[in-house]
Amino acid sequence: MIPFVDLKAQYQSVKEEVNAAIQGVLDSCQFTLGSEVLAFEQEFAAYCQAKQGIGVNTGTSALHLALLAAGVGRGDEVITVPFTFMATVSAIDYTGAKPVFVDIDPVSFTMDAKALEAAITDKTKAIIPVHLYGQPADMDPILEVAKRHGLLVIEDACQAHGAEYKGRRAGSMGDMSCFSFYPGKNLGAYGEGGMVVTDNPDYARTIRMLRDWGAEKKYHHVLKGYNFRLEGIQGAVLRVKLRRLEAWTEARRGAAAHYDRLLSDSGIATPKAMPYNRHVYHIYAIRTAHRQAWQEALLAQGIQTGIHYPTPIHLLPAFADLGYREGQFPHSERAAKEVLSLPMFAELTQDQCEEVARAVRNLASGVADTRDRVEAL
Ligand SMILES: *Cc1c(COP(=O)(O)O)cnc(C)c1O
Repeated sequence: MIPFVDLKAQYQSVKEEVNAAIQGVLDSCQFTLGSEVLAFEQEFAAYCQAKQGIGVNTGTSALHLALLAAGVGRGDEVITVPFTFMATVSAIDYTGAKPVFVDIDPVSFTMDAKALEAAITDKTKAIIPVHLYGQPADMDPILEVAKRHGLLVIEDACQAHGAEYKGRRAGSMGDMSCFSFYPGKNLGAYGEGGMVVTDNPDYARTIRMLRDWGAEKKYHHVLKGYNFRLEGIQGAVLRVKLRRLEAWTEARRGAAAHYDRLLSDSGIATPKAMPYNRHVYHIYAIRTAHRQAWQEALLAQGIQTGIHYPTPIHLLPAFADLGYREGQFPHSERAAKEVLSLPMFAELTQDQCEEVARAVRNLASGVADTRDRVEAL
């Protein structure tokens, strides 16, 4: 069996250090926030080329609190893409603001900066580009439009730890940026975790209060806040894992390059890394018009795959209240029907890549007129 992700393989590679780090927290009894979280905040912010990091309990909370710190609330609009994980849009909804969508670029799967300006109204407060699959959105035109209209930019970098756009790290370009440390992410906790990084001391201060009941100091609550604190054990685990992140990212990039080579000249649409990006391959998604059949056939051969994501957010029943219809975001809708995520994790071996690629190539060659049906974009 080749799993889609292999958390056990990674744990084996850091087991002693992680166990010792967890033991240290147990001994210190700093179970929530505390010195390990503080150190991790500083180390991860520095890794992102940002000045401040505020650890929270999930990536969703990071987005939620960044929006609140930006002053977003009822009556406001926030622009994002419909081809993302539900959490991007739920975080906007939690603030009372209205999510407004622009379509993706069909090659990069990230926000189509050319479609952005038409979605701006006098209610728009912020833009959330999503660095989907580990590839940064085309930030320069997005930042330019935002600046011209006086809008804040919040990066959803939950899939993009260590990714770069024109040499700038994910997390260093927007007014605030949000990361998730869900176990399956490129940097994963042993539980839940998230962080907002920013250069702005006012946003940082507000988010620090909001994550801890809005308290300026103990029992002095100046804001209506939340219990969104990061746990001490997660901070300690993440510090150990952060030291390996560059090596793991290079391993992912190596596996992706190997897939690219093995699948070239097969007619299969492989992911395109934009030339200005360092793609960190949280997900390696091919496209096929025969997705369900391929997924089943691969599983029958012991190869697990994933679908990220099968329904664009504007067509989910949960967001029917937004009033969008099928056909409004054709690139997102088509991607949602065609993407198929191949096994991708740092410990994936060359042999495993070869086995997956061979199976996928066999499927492609078994399809008549492959080139017509699996359009290379
Ligand atoms: C994982 C993810 C989130 C949410 O992070 P959690 O830690 O699971 O709350 C938000 N946006 C994107 C794009 C994600 O992939």
